Amino acid sequence: MRFHKTPPVLPWLFRKAWWKRPVSDKILFLTFDDGPIPEVTPFVLEQLAQYNAKATFFCVGENLERYPDLAREAKAQGHQLANHTHQHVKAWKVSPAEYRQQVERCQAALEKVGSGADGPKFFRPPHGQLTWRHLRMLEPEYQVVMWSTLTYDFDASLYPEECLAKAIAVTKPGSVVVLHDSLKAERNLRYVLPRLLRHFSDLGYVFKTL
Ligand SMILES: [Zn+2]
Repeated sequence: MRFHKTPPVLPWLFRKAWWKRPVSDKILFLTFDDGPIPEVTPFVLEQLAQYNAKATFFCVGENLERYPDLAREAKAQGHQLANHTHQHVKAWKVSPAEYRQQVERCQAALEKVGSGADGPKFFRPPHGQLTWRHLRMLEPEYQVVMWSTLTYDFDASLYPEECLAKAIAVTKPGSVVVLHDSLKAERNLRYVLPRLLRHFSDLGYVFKTL
């Protein structure tokens, strides 16, 4: 079963995480997970630039180390870079101590590309996996950001048209929308992103960083 819209029990369980943002205007928070990679991230930047849209990239530390220039480029264009662990590890598979190392290594990679040293530190757990122990360990230093719209762009069994239609149906002012600058999501993303930007832009929405 796919939950394009976040089931209300999750925000209730993890109340300190951000699931959507309180806004009084038509604002959306687009987020891109798992990059940066040269195959997809430049396309995302191009599309965002066409709408003067700003977004948040939850980066994998290893990718930051491989493609630091791409990360710097995103930052130079006014986007926000945030933490998605060093190797995209699942919280349910590793101890809080190991998880912490993963988060810190990613943070170091972020700081190397000139990001993350100032302002709030945002973190999104890979696969949305978290436990209270992991959350408590992160909380003093990081603001955990989940989502209210999951596009399932990474799901190749989902047609791009369906992916777009479902995303549009559940997105509202203040929604935090998850997309992926990853190879797995590439087919759906290349279809969905330009149309999503156009659709909400035509309705008067603007796109901001968290
Ligand atoms: Zn991820």
